[in-house]
Parts: sequence; C-alpha cells; structure tokens
Amino acid sequence: MRVGVPREVTPGEKRVPLMADSVKRLAPKKIDVSIERGAGTGSCVSDDEFRAGGATVEDSGDALYASSDVVVRLRLPTVESIARLREGSALVSPLFPLQAQNAPLVRALAERKVTTIAVDMIPRTTVAQMMDVLSSQATIAGYYAVLMAAAALPKFFPMLMTAAGTIAPSRVLILGAGVAGLQAIGTARRLGAVVEAFDVRRVVKEQVESLGARFVEVDSDEDAQTAGGYAKETSEAYKAKQAEAIARHVQKADVVISTALIPGQRAPILVTEDMVKSMRPGSVIVDLAAEQQGNCALTEPGKSIVVHGVNILGELDLPSKVAIHASQMYARNMEKLLLHLCKSDGKDSALHLDPENEITRGCLITHAGDVVHPKVKERL
Ligand code: NAD
Repeated sequence: MRVGVPREVTPGEKRVPLMADSVKRLAPKKIDVSIERGAGTGSCVSDDEFRAGGATVEDSGDALYASSDVVVRLRLPTVESIARLREGSALVSPLFPLQAQNAPLVRALAERKVTTIAVDMIPRTTVAQMMDVLSSQATIAGYYAVLMAAAALPKFFPMLMTAAGTIAPSRVLILGAGVAGLQAIGTARRLGAVVEAFDVRRVVKEQVESLGARFVEVDSDEDAQTAGGYAKETSEAYKAKQAEAIARHVQKADVVISTALIPGQRAPILVTEDMVKSMRPGSVIVDLAAEQQGNCALTEPGKSIVVHGVNILGELDLPSKVAIHASQMYARNMEKLLLHLCKSDGKDSALHLDPENEITRGCLITHAGDVVHPKVKERL
C-alpha cells in the first residue's frame, strides 16, 4: 500500500503530516510512502532526508495523487484537491464533517468514491489518544499562545525583585481548560505569571489547581460536561452568572487566553466589548477560538488588532509556528492511525475497515460512494 503526502499549499502552513522517521517505521508494516517534492521544507525536513528514510519523492502533485492508495493531509481538502484523488483511494485528513459549510466536501468525497477518514472525528478516548491530532495540535497552540502573549505584553510575566524595584507578576486568565487551556496554564506558570482559569466543566477544577492556577468559580450547580467529555450549551441563568464572574476577572487580567469551543458550533462569546474596555491599555487577548469566530466579540480571525488599547490576537495557524514539533506529533498520530486502519499479510498491506471498531466507526465518513457516518449523513 502506498501512502502519499502532498505539499500543503495553505498560506502560512509549514507542517508536514509524516516525517522521515515515520517512513522508516511504516516500511516493515508494508506501508510505503511518497511525498511531493518540498513537502517537508517548512518543517526543515529535506527531500533527501525523506529519501534516506525510504520515501519516494514525486516531482508533481499529479504524480503523487495518481500513485497513492491513501493520501494523508493536515489541512481540510478543497473540492479541487478531491477531484485529484484516485477513485477508490482513501483520504486521511481533517474534515469537520458536522459543520454545515463542509457538507459540499463530504458530498464530493462520496461522489468520488473515496474512503474518507476524518482525523477530527477520532473518539477522544484513552485508547485513541495516540492518534488524536486535536489533542497534539491543541497542546502546541496552548503553549504558543502564551509565548505570543508574553511577547506582545509590555510587561514581565514573573515577579522580579531587582535593585530597580520590585516588579509584580502579570496576571493571566485562561478561558476554557481543555487540552490547549491546560497547556497554556502550565506554560504561563512556568514563565512566572499568576494564573486563573475558568471552564464550564467543573471536573477540570482539580486539573487547573494541580497546575498551580486558581479556578474561577461560578455560583451554580450546573455542569456542562456531556457523556462524551465535551462541553455543551449552558442555561441562560448560568450564562448570566458566568458573564459576571468572567467580567470581574477579565478586568484584573493583563492577558486573557481563550480556548473555549463547543463541537460543531460557533465558539461561545465570553469576552464582550465592555469587558475589553475594562482592561488596562497594553493588555493582550489571544483568542485560540478564532478558527470558530472567536471567544471575544471583537476578534478578527487571522488578524492582530488593537481595540480600546487592548491587543487582540486572532492568529489561526499557531501549530505551524512550532512546525518541527507540531509535525513530529502529527506524524506520530498518523503512524498509529495508519497501523490501526491497515492489515498486512507480510508482503503488502491494505486498509481493513472494521465497522465494529469504535475508533474506525467514529472517524469513517465516506466509503464506496456513500456517506456512512450516521450523524454526518443526518446533517447533510
Ligand atoms: P475543546 O477544544 O472542545 O474546548 C476547549 C475547552 O473549552 C473545553 O474544556 C470546554 O469545556 C471549554 N468550554 C466550552 N464552552 C465554554 C464556555 N462557555 N466557557 C468556558 N469554557 C468552555 O476541548 P478539548 O481540549 O478538545 O477537550 C474536549 C474533551 O475531550 C475534554 O473532556 C478532554 O478532557 C477530552 N479529551 C480526552 C482525551 C483522552 O484521551 N481521554 C484526550 C483529549 C481530550
């Protein structure tokens, strides 16, 4: 079986979904890898390194698509790139198929008779953790958001006692304590900031505190955790209490890092314009939810703006800023996923899709001309 890695062309994208050492590790399992020339450049992996790992380097995307049984990507496909996939081949890629705007992609994949594995639909369970790209890339985003905030803030993060006086530590407020939020807490603490965090899932209070941050309490018994571990919409009464609590803490913060997402929906607005006005000039908001329109009412996805004296950073490609490690982590996830999806007879390997398997069932979206994921089918 041949796995192909095309060059990602999204502006600013530097990651590559498989690294040269992944190629070496997949070879004994009879999974061969081709890359499009230059695919690893952004992550500092040369074509020669890929060749040394055993990969075939294709000169053009057309040659790569034509020879691949499975194409692996780390950005959503486009309708044009779907047309380049061989009929009957497979695509392993982010797809966010439950979001209405991606329905045309799902239809195009089914029409092309492509077997699609959506990496964002891999169940968030302990057994699937090694394949979980949402977690690995959120870890990077959480880390880098803090570095961006520290660079943009005209203040130190740590407390300093110097001959020129004592500097008070900066105060960082993290909204949403999932994978990215917890990594942001750890990074901000390591830089010496005083950190507070809030999440609608009360279960994370203990994790927040174990990292040395204070959990912001909302005076309510409501818990917004679903059986799947994700957050769900809260009641209007809870939202009002939450807004009051957040407003109090935003006002005192030098930095707000927001990461709050609800799967398949617009990100909740947690920081209103009035809250931004209440912050001291020079303060920073890094909105990691910008990809889903943002947690701050003023965020402009993809842009850094200054409003009411506050820097609001809505960058979209944070994992690419740490491209080598982001690629390394994504590639490890892909190796585990490919090994999970393929079976080898010792001479060759092929996709072996077991519909009874929880992981496969969770992320298999289209197969043999049909949309086979029941929830995705229902939403089309
Ligand atoms: P996410 O990116 O979907 O959301 C980020 C955080 O925002 C979440 O913690 C969520 O509760 C929070 N949030 C949503 N609405 C909010 C609001 N209005 N106000 C404040 N916070 C709000 O989350 P994620 O990081 O992808 O994690 C999702 C779930 O998956 C979590 O339960 C996580 O523990 C779980 N998970 C499990 C594993 C595993 O292996 N068991 C691995 C990764 C993630």
